[in-house]
Amino acid sequence: MTGLDLLDDKHRALYIDGTWREANSGDRFDVHDPADGSVICSVADASVTDAMDALDAAAAAQHDWARTAPRERGEILRRAFGLLTQRADDHAHLMSLEMGKTVAEAKGEVTYGSEFFRWFSEEAVRIHGRWMQAPAGGSRMLTIKKPVGPCLFITPWNFPLAMGTRKIGPAVAAGCTMVIKPAAETPLSMLALAAVMEEAGLPPGVLNVITTKHSGDVGAALMADDRLRKVSFTGSTEIGKVLVRQSADELQRVSMELGGNAPFLIFEDADVDAAVDGAMIAKMRNMGEACTSANRFLVHESLAEEFGDKLGARMSALTLGRGQDEGVDVGPLINADAVQSVSELVTDAVHDGAKLVTGGTPPEGPGYFYPPTVLVGVPAEAQINSVEIFGPVAPITTFSSEEEAVERANSTEYGLVAYAYTKELSRTIRLAESLDFGMVGINTGLVSNPAAPFGGVKASGFGREGGFEGIEEYLDTTYVAIPAG
Ligand code: NAP
Repeated sequence: MTGLDLLDDKHRALYIDGTWREANSGDRFDVHDPADGSVICSVADASVTDAMDALDAAAAAQHDWARTAPRERGEILRRAFGLLTQRADDHAHLMSLEMGKTVAEAKGEVTYGSEFFRWFSEEAVRIHGRWMQAPAGGSRMLTIKKPVGPCLFITPWNFPLAMGTRKIGPAVAAGCTMVIKPAAETPLSMLALAAVMEEAGLPPGVLNVITTKHSGDVGAALMADDRLRKVSFTGSTEIGKVLVRQSADELQRVSMELGGNAPFLIFEDADVDAAVDGAMIAKMRNMGEACTSANRFLVHESLAEEFGDKLGARMSALTLGRGQDEGVDVGPLINADAVQSVSELVTDAVHDGAKLVTGGTPPEGPGYFYPPTVLVGVPAEAQINSVEIFGPVAPITTFSSEEEAVERANSTEYGLVAYAYTKELSRTIRLAESLDFGMVGINTGLVSNPAAPFGGVKASGFGREGGFEGIEEYLDTTYVAIPAG
C-alpha cells in the first residue's frame, strides 16, 4: 500500500465548485518524497484566476449553506469522520509518503484530525445566542449567532491533514464556506480529504481546494476581495504577520496559529522516568517538526545529569529511515533546507560550549535525514534556545530555582505551549498562572486534544482551534434590541 491509490489522476487536481479540474493555465507542479527526493506525482498549479474561481464558488454557496439545518451540517461531518476512520491506513500511508513521518505517526494524525469532525458534528447543533432583560428593565436583548461567511484556510506541511480538519470542522458546523490552500510540499493529503468531504455529501462550492506554487499572489488576491470574511492560518510567525497586515484592507477576521518555542521544565521533585517518557513525546512527535515541540529542556541542576543520560539512551535507540518501512521510528525532515538549518543550530551550540550526548551528524546518502540528538550544557543564550528548532534535537540547560525557571521559560517572543514536570500541586497552580503560554502541560508531553482550545499568545498568534471556543472563530454575533412594555 502506498496511499496513492486514494488519489487517482482525477483527484490530483483543483477542487472547485464540486468539480475536479486542471488549472486554467494547465500548469502542474511535482510533489516529492522526502525520504529520497524522488517525484511522487504532480498536482495542478493554481493561478490567481483559479483562486478567484474558488472564491466565486464559495461566495455563491454561502447563502444556502448558512441556511442548511445544523443537524444536516453535523451529519456530513459525522459521515466524513466515519470515512476517514474506515480508511485511516490509506490516509496514513499517503501522508507518510509526502511528509516523511512514520505510518504509525501518520495514523495518529488521522485519528487526531478526524476527531475534530466528530467533535464539531456534535457542536453544530449547539450554536445558540441568549435572551435577557436590560438591567434598567423595559427592553429585551437578544443575541443570535451567524456564520462569518466565506473563509480562506492556509495550512502548513507538518500536519497535512489535521491542520485542515481543525479549520474545516468548525467552519462546516458553523455554516461557513471555504477556500483551502494546503502547503505546496504536502498537497496530497488535503486533496484526499476533499474527496472524503465530497463523498460525505458536502454540497458543491462549500469547500474548495487550490494547490499552488504561488501562495503569496493567490493569498493576496483572495484577501483583497471583500467577499472573503475570514482568514485562518497555521504556519510561521513571519507569514502570519504578512497575512494580518493584508487582512487590514478588507478587515477580515483572522485566526493565527503560529510558531512556538516550548520550554520543558523539570523540577527537583519530578519523576525523572516519567519526564523522559514525556520528553520523548514532546520532542519526537513529528520528528520535532511541530509547533508544540519541546524546544528547550530546562532541568533542575540536581537532575540534569540523570535526565541527560536517560534521554540520550532513549534517543540513540531510535531507528532512522523511510516512514513507510517496518521498524522505523524517525522519518526524514521535510527538505534539504530543514536539515541544513537544524545542523547549523547544533554546530553553533557545540561551538558555544554544549556537549553532544548522541546524534549531531546527518547520515550520508539520499533523503533529508537528521538523527535524534541530545545536547547538554547548552548556554542559556545559545541561539538554539531562542529559535524554533523544528527537528529532532533536545538542548538541555539547567536552573537552580523555580523563579529562575519561570523567568527563563517566559523569555521568548513565543507563547504557544509550556510543559512542566513536578509533583507539587501548589507549584502546578503557580506555573499555570505565571507561564505566559496559551497551553500548559503538567506531567504530560502531549496537550493536543480536539475537545480542548488549542492556541497561543504573543508571537504564537491568537484564536483557538478545538474545544467549545473553536466554533466561535466562525460565528458573528448580532444583537437585537426589542422594547417590551
Ligand atoms: P510557512 O512557510 O509559514 O507556510 C505555511 C503556509 O503558508 C503554506 O501553505 C505556505 O505555502 C503558505 N504561505 C507562505 N507564504 C505565503 C504568503 N505570502 N501568503 C499566503 N500564504 C503563504 O510555514 P511552514 O514552514 O509550512 O510550517 C511551519 C510553521 O508552522 C512553523 O513555524 C510551525 O510552528 C507552524 N505551525 C503552527 C501550528 C500551530 O497550531 N500553532 C501548527 C503547525 C505548524 P507554500 O507551501 O506554497 O509556501
